[in-house]
Amino acid sequence: MVEERARAERAVRVLAVAVRVGDAAGVDAGLLATAWEGVREGGIVDGASLALERVPARWACALCGRDVDATGPLRCNACDAPAVLAGGEDLHLVRIELERAHGDDGPASPPHRGERA
Ligand SMILES: [Zn+2]
Repeated sequence: MVEERARAERAVRVLAVAVRVGDAAGVDAGLLATAWEGVREGGIVDGASLALERVPARWACALCGRDVDATGPLRCNACDAPAVLAGGEDLHLVRIELERAHGDDGPASPPHRGERA
């Protein structure tokens, strides 16, 4: 989805991507980072950095909406109803930094090309 977005923006390169991952999203942050390494090879995403932001899962009572401590039995203290997931279950693309073809920040070609070491 990053590449599609970059193409839509007519970017020549993707510089950085920030993703917010809910703890209950069923996504392992480590696995995601590893997958990213594979995905970004070649193409316009090559070399882009990935910033992962963890969002803790949040549980709330299905009846009264009271926050429920996720370390407990996941039942409401007040009415003993089972808790439902109230946050942290999704994966969001929060930020994407692109380099456009006619951007004037960043040199289009390096001023000096050194010899290969
Ligand atoms: Zn309740």
